[in-house]
Amino acid sequence: MEKNITDKIQKALSHAGNVCILTHTNPDGDAIGSALAMFHWLKGKGMHASVIVPTSIPDFLAWMPGIKEIVVYEDDKSLSMQHLQEADVLICVDFNAADRLDEMEQTFENSIATKILIDHHIEREHFCDLEYTTTKVSSTAELIHQLIVECGEKHLLTNEIGSCLYVGIMTDTGSFSYACNNESTFRAMADIIALGVDGEQIHRLIYDTYSEERIRLLGYCLSEKLVVLPEYGTAYIALSAAELERFHSKNGDTEGVVNYTLGIKGIVFGALITERSGRIKISLRSKGNFNVNQIAGAHFNGGGHKNASGGDLYCSFEEAIKLFRSVVPMYGAELKKAIE
Ligand code: 5GP
Ligand code: MN
Repeated sequence: MEKNITDKIQKALSHAGNVCILTHTNPDGDAIGSALAMFHWLKGKGMHASVIVPTSIPDFLAWMPGIKEIVVYEDDKSLSMQHLQEADVLICVDFNAADRLDEMEQTFENSIATKILIDHHIEREHFCDLEYTTTKVSSTAELIHQLIVECGEKHLLTNEIGSCLYVGIMTDTGSFSYACNNESTFRAMADIIALGVDGEQIHRLIYDTYSEERIRLLGYCLSEKLVVLPEYGTAYIALSAAELERFHSKNGDTEGVVNYTLGIKGIVFGALITERSGRIKISLRSKGNFNVNQIAGAHFNGGGHKNASGGDLYCSFEEAIKLFRSVVPMYGAELKKAIE
């Protein structure tokens, strides 16, 4: 991380009239948790802040403190544009490339506001003025905690901020099962629990509030749709728009499904392919040293992390499955090594 970056961010914030916080499209727990923690922190300092997300927020995050104040760009373009244009500081949380802003990208690029990036993804594009970034943390939420502490404002942490940070760290580590072999993650968690945050309740609110249809969709994926390629240590699930429709699947309903592929012994590479409106979304996961970020970048117009990445394809559903199946053997040697 750049030297004095915290001072520079503090300076930019101290001059700010309006701060607008932005997340990536299809925001997840870390994106929303980080954005809301930042929002509550700035509000607590008496600042004007807003949060805009490009596309809708998954239902399992609907209980979060401040969620109703988030403006969803696809639902209210004029209010989103107003916030974007009024902002003199824009804070991007939890993404590493401007195109993850989807339709907001051009307005973002045109803005003369000071742009701050807070993120933990690899292979970052340089699209902001100030970058508070490292890949050596569990989540962006952990970085927000670190930033607040480095700003000397740990005393401004509240239960609300802590709950938002908890969501970000818990969801990005699969409930503390990956990307968290760091003392610092658990030190941040200790601070958060000390605020009186009820981690057990948050876990229940996120993971035990599925609709019946969502659970049935998961069952269908595992019993009917799972394809295993044992020779490549690979498993995938592909869901067409009609199948998603059959289970009345909403944004976020397939979140976590891809992780089940890695639950199989000997599987080191897993994928979920879903047919969405106008695009095919692909989620990739891996165990150990097998790098899916590289695969997402090379074949699926995406990126992410070594063990969790995603991307989009603009082709038919069938073509996407064919492409995925043709990509797997290209990594046969690496997969064989990863299985051993
Ligand atoms: P998921 O598979 O859960 O949607 O995403 C897993 C990881 O990959 C996340 O860290 C996410 O930010 C990243 N990711 C997902 N989709 C895309 C994409 O289309 N482009 C890029 N650059 N990263 C993505
Ligand atoms: Mn994240």
